[in-house]
Amino acid sequence: MQDTYKHQGMRRRLVQLLKQKGIEDQGVLSAIGKVPRHYFFDNALLAHAYQDKAFPIGEGQTISQPYTVAFQSEKLVINPGDKVLEVGTGSGYQACVLLELGASVFTIEYNKVLYERTKKALPVMGYKPRFFQGDGSMGLPRHAPFDKIIVTAGAPSVPGSLVKQLKQGGILLIPVGDNTKQKMFRITKVTDKKIKKETFDYFSFVPLLGNEGWKS
Ligand code: SAM
Repeated sequence: MQDTYKHQGMRRRLVQLLKQKGIEDQGVLSAIGKVPRHYFFDNALLAHAYQDKAFPIGEGQTISQPYTVAFQSEKLVINPGDKVLEVGTGSGYQACVLLELGASVFTIEYNKVLYERTKKALPVMGYKPRFFQGDGSMGLPRHAPFDKIIVTAGAPSVPGSLVKQLKQGGILLIPVGDNTKQKMFRITKVTDKKIKKETFDYFSFVPLLGNEGWKS
């Protein structure tokens, strides 16, 4: 794996594009500028690596669009040292961006093939989140509570388990809707009894499966 001037130039152009699309957080832009997205693609598909598009990664799943990764990362307001749960490891790209932001990342994937593949690939790239396999719609109770939880698959509703596993002041970012489009929700756990809900744009994610997701 090589990260050449050519790749770095393509990445700088992607960062410029994300700025034009409205991403303002310098930390997020710099993290996107650091993660070699072409490591997630076969050589023959290099041209796709720095386009602002989702791309198939096998098993019917996708590596998220860079704008979506940047948007979710920005809205999570990551502070260095934050303990973050990512539901939907997929390729691991979003986890790398969170690590570059200084978070301590716990990432859970439902699909066993993707879990095995990404658990092997990321450390080779120098990224070491903690990997888990299972139904992340119910969170990761044995490692809770978390400062932040990010869900990278579309949910039918906000899973109560995830809200429960947030620290006080913690943030859950989750796309909620049907199987064609979802609205981005940001849930802040103000106190154990008080929740603040904000909504943002529409996105299109693959479905969140599992007990508190869509039944497969
Ligand atoms: N974050 C990923 C990335 O950076 O490449 C993109 C994730 S992809 C859009 C959504 C992922 O969520 C898929 O890999 C899918 O298998 C996974 N998924 C779906 N339901 C899940 C669940 N209940 N728990 C954990 N992962 C789940």
